[in-house]
Amino acid sequence: MKKIAILGSTGSIGCSALDVIRSHPDRFKVEALVAGSNTELLARQAAEFRPRLVVSKKDGEAAQIEAATLPDVDIVLSAIVGAAGLKPTYAALKAGKRVALANKESLVAAGAVMTKAKREGAAELIPVDSEHSAIHQVLNGNLKEVVQIILTASGGPFRTWSKEKLEKATKSEALKHPNWKMGEKITIDSATLMNKGLEIIEAHWLFDLPPEKITVKVHPQSIIHSLVEYVDGSVLAQMGLPDMKTPIAYALAYPDRISAPVPPLDLTKMAPLTFEEPDMERFPALSLAKTALKKGKTYPAVLNGANEIAVYAFLEEKISFLDIVKTVEKVLERHKPFEMNTLDDVLAADSEARRKALELL
Ligand code: NDP
Repeated sequence: MKKIAILGSTGSIGCSALDVIRSHPDRFKVEALVAGSNTELLARQAAEFRPRLVVSKKDGEAAQIEAATLPDVDIVLSAIVGAAGLKPTYAALKAGKRVALANKESLVAAGAVMTKAKREGAAELIPVDSEHSAIHQVLNGNLKEVVQIILTASGGPFRTWSKEKLEKATKSEALKHPNWKMGEKITIDSATLMNKGLEIIEAHWLFDLPPEKITVKVHPQSIIHSLVEYVDGSVLAQMGLPDMKTPIAYALAYPDRISAPVPPLDLTKMAPLTFEEPDMERFPALSLAKTALKKGKTYPAVLNGANEIAVYAFLEEKISFLDIVKTVEKVLERHKPFEMNTLDDVLAADSEARRKALELL
């Protein structure tokens, strides 16, 4: 029986994880639930799963960290959204847990610090993000002879929109993702393609690959979740319906496979699979993120922090859609980088980025 702490239990990933766990009562036991402000749903989850510890935002960071490091817990699902997930994720890695990582922001903002914590804690880091789960499944620990990994991107709701049309894109249009049902922040990140930029950085830290070996192709059907190209010309892909319960089940059960409550993929019924290059001009977030990764130091943390502020400003209808990435770009331009050795360095860069982004807005 594996004992699990779910950070972000009331979110889209948290609820999907509980669906998977519900269908395997003999395999998993929920030991802790951590959420933000949705205490009503949290209470219902607590009544159903009877965890030892239930934490909401008002209980504070120390309580979140306690949940992430409970001695009995084997697996911590890190699914709080944004930089709020950094501290408990770090604590879980230090405590030597298996971290099933949905909170990509942890690796984007603090890749070096998180991977050091993982080594020091002898922890395991298994991606939940569908693209990284696909790569993890294909590689199966063997990075030899890899030419490149290809992250697929749906292209989001604005894939075919002109720049002029994008200027006027509204919140409700941006929240209409064609394939995935997700929380609001990642849905907006998918519309700007910043999500794919964050995923390039995430892939760099997960698989220890240089930026040049991480590429992106737009694949609007979201059936192939990513691919790995090898030196002999083979390209291996992982496929499945766009449902996060599959990569969640994989991350919880690895190296085993368990059933996930998802419909099977019927190859004869799906639309033809197509691929295109991402348009860097209409979606500059991708190259912004890749440049931040190449520049290193505090740049990725600043990209992440500024993006978070800008996304929420757009969700509050204070700025236009195109202003999201423009704001991030401006904050990065003004940033004076410094070395990042500790989580405190990361948090300092993150707060500075937030302050600058707010000033600009
Ligand atoms: P949601 O917005 O649906 O859920 C976010 C969760 O985080 C909620 O449980 C929320 O609690 C909780 N939360 C927010 N702030 C705090 C805080 N300060 N303290 C404690 N809990 C907090 O997001 P998603 O589930 O969509 O995404 C979660 C993470 O997973 C993100 O990092 C995202 O990038 C990543 N991810 C998501 C995918 C998806 O399909 N949804 C796919 C791949 C990655 P409450 O609602 O109670 O306030």
